Amino acid sequence: MKNIIIFSLLLALIVPQVAMARDEVNYTPQGSHFELLTLGSAQAVKLRLYDAGAAGKVVKTVSLKAASQPDGYKLWSADVKGDLKGRFYTFDVKYAGKFRGETPGVWAKAVGVNGRRGAIVDMRDTDPQGWERDRRPRVAPHDWVIYEMHHRDFSIDASSGLEHKGKFLALTEPRAIEHLLQLGVNAVHILPSFDYASIDESKLELNRYNWGYDPLNYNVPEGGYSTDPANPNARIREFKQMVQALHSVGIKVVLDVVYNHTFNIEGSNFQLTMPDEFFRKNPDGTYSNGSGCGNETASERPVMRNYMIESVKYWVDEYHIDGFRFDLMGVHDIATMNAIRQAVPDDIFIYGEGWSAGSCAYPNEKLGMKAHMKQMPGIAAFSDDIRDALRGPFSDDTKPAFLAGLPGHEESIKMGIVGAIEHPQVDYSKVNYSKEPWCLQPTQMISYVSCHDDMCLVDRLKASIPGISMPELIRLDLLAQTAVLTSQGVPFILSGEEMLRTKQGVHNSFESPDEINHLDWTGIERYPQVMAYYQGLIAMRHRHPAFHMGQADLVRSKLRFLPTQDCVVAFHIDGRGIKRESWNDIYVVLNANKKAVTVDVPQGPYAVVCRSGVCSERGLGSVQGGKVTVPAQSALIFHN
Ligand code: CA
Repeated sequence: MKNIIIFSLLLALIVPQVAMARDEVNYTPQGSHFELLTLGSAQAVKLRLYDAGAAGKVVKTVSLKAASQPDGYKLWSADVKGDLKGRFYTFDVKYAGKFRGETPGVWAKAVGVNGRRGAIVDMRDTDPQGWERDRRPRVAPHDWVIYEMHHRDFSIDASSGLEHKGKFLALTEPRAIEHLLQLGVNAVHILPSFDYASIDESKLELNRYNWGYDPLNYNVPEGGYSTDPANPNARIREFKQMVQALHSVGIKVVLDVVYNHTFNIEGSNFQLTMPDEFFRKNPDGTYSNGSGCGNETASERPVMRNYMIESVKYWVDEYHIDGFRFDLMGVHDIATMNAIRQAVPDDIFIYGEGWSAGSCAYPNEKLGMKAHMKQMPGIAAFSDDIRDALRGPFSDDTKPAFLAGLPGHEESIKMGIVGAIEHPQVDYSKVNYSKEPWCLQPTQMISYVSCHDDMCLVDRLKASIPGISMPELIRLDLLAQTAVLTSQGVPFILSGEEMLRTKQGVHNSFESPDEINHLDWTGIERYPQVMAYYQGLIAMRHRHPAFHMGQADLVRSKLRFLPTQDCVVAFHIDGRGIKRESWNDIYVVLNANKKAVTVDVPQGPYAVVCRSGVCSERGLGSVQGGKVTVPAQSALIFHN
């Protein structure tokens, strides 16, 4: 604790802060105050007011006045009298004798359709009834079970039975809430839900699909997920209604944030406001592309760093967001990630992709990569180690691994079971990617086998195991999620896996039509065993702290791996002395072999809670200990 305090004090000293207007518009019924921060070289700023969110004539143009800032930036401001509620605005900044073009600024909190103009709203008008009583549910990081979903995937199909198809409001409907509660997840991670560029919000009838990794306005919800994109209040209110409905049943909400790049450079609000200030460049003057999307932002610069901190804080304050998933966290610098960690309350969970999509114009050793997680206490990263050890590598969908009964992946899975911490029985030299432990605490590792990226689990099993039968596919699916959900890391499930979703083999479905991306809810009835198993496993995890101890020292002292043969990972957890744990000796065996195997355990009796694709704390019989048989391609869990 003392170290953390010293660390944060140091951080406050070394991280420079730039005073940056988080409120570019301050509305009151008597008048509105506008301000914009630009580079010191800006020559003029024009404010234009409109009646409409898109098209229509300018109703007023105002020149902002500059007040120089000590750190070389310029803060411009203007006061406009009268009640401007319902009007729209843009800024236009002049550099080197030329106005760069209209932008809602970088801090718009409400926008018109398609996000090209800011909207003047009274934020209190956007609060749903009872919003002031909404609180973030109390769930410690080690207790989280995360469900990653896209609004359209989740509700668009008729089989969902949901009314608000593809909308924020779908998550307020009883059927949606009941499903999440039945499954047992306590955190919903929504794919990018800030305003993104790729969907024309004025033509939603075209039913276009996109994941949303093309940011336009970072601090406004996406219009395409609202029932009325032209009404600036609707998307804000409906987003809050979604948060409120989930919070009311104890489910947290994680926002997928994409600060690492913008939709484009030249048309971006960053570039229109402060040219080249937010982006990294190569030594030859070209823009660096560590995001793989044409540009990368420069989190190490005070303006961008401060922007990310304030933006995250804004989502916490205004929308009561519980956690953030940082897209390509490896593009951001470590100091910025730590500054964000410090800036938000401790219960806000922060995790990200500990990699980039290309090389960055910043020293690798200073970037938020998975290998540097020990320098980012309180922040987690996805474990591609356990993911690929189970299903096979990202680079080749046809390549199988542990699930196909291939030996050599056991150590990577063991690493995933302990949460990528140092453990005396994990030989990191045999782990697929990480040659040393990368977590200080197990809650720094996200445990998963599939996410929105690349194939869902069903498709991957089909692609990597030619001719796989449905019963075998189900066996391996359940085995994979048993590894994920008995990991000391934080488990994460792609939405629809519980219904055995398929994306018809599409690897990158970021703009595939609904036919590919939609969840088919009939999967719940067609594969009742799958849903029941996920439910049983998640419920068991929640009820038994042994499966999510949360502390590295505790994991090291309580969790022991058993000697086994190829394609088997088996461990024992000593439940004695673990707070609120009612079981004493807990055994988990993951057998990927096509035949039954045996493991040696002390004489019993033990109660069986998971066997042959059934997971339930009630009535699965008992085993006597000694040589215990574990059926083929399945997990066995028993305890005394
Ligand atoms: Ca949009």
